[in-house]
Amino acid sequence: MTEAEIIEKYTRVVKTTLGLWVQAMVIKEPLTDSPEITWKGVGRMLPVRALPENVELARQSALKDRRFFKICPQCQEARPPSLIHNGSSCVDCLGVPSNLQQQ
Ligand SMILES: [Zn+2]
Repeated sequence: MTEAEIIEKYTRVVKTTLGLWVQAMVIKEPLTDSPEITWKGVGRMLPVRALPENVELARQSALKDRRFFKICPQCQEARPPSLIHNGSSCVDCLGVPSNLQQQ
């Protein structure tokens, strides 16, 4: 996956009256039939009128937040930690479908 695809899949931007909030996907039990997906805010809220490039930068830096993303030792790509099996290979390296539905 390219970084842009990882960002698109595992982060989202939520608009609130207070500002724009970049959130990271947190997945519990990703390898079951019904993984539990929640979203957690990363970093500081951006102003409502933040420029698209600043929103993009915030999403990129979310991938560097080690609470929410870790680097798969095998493919060297960022993934939510729960998708890196035993800390050694991500579900994509393992070829395991993870049943994640984007809302
Ligand atoms: Zn991998």
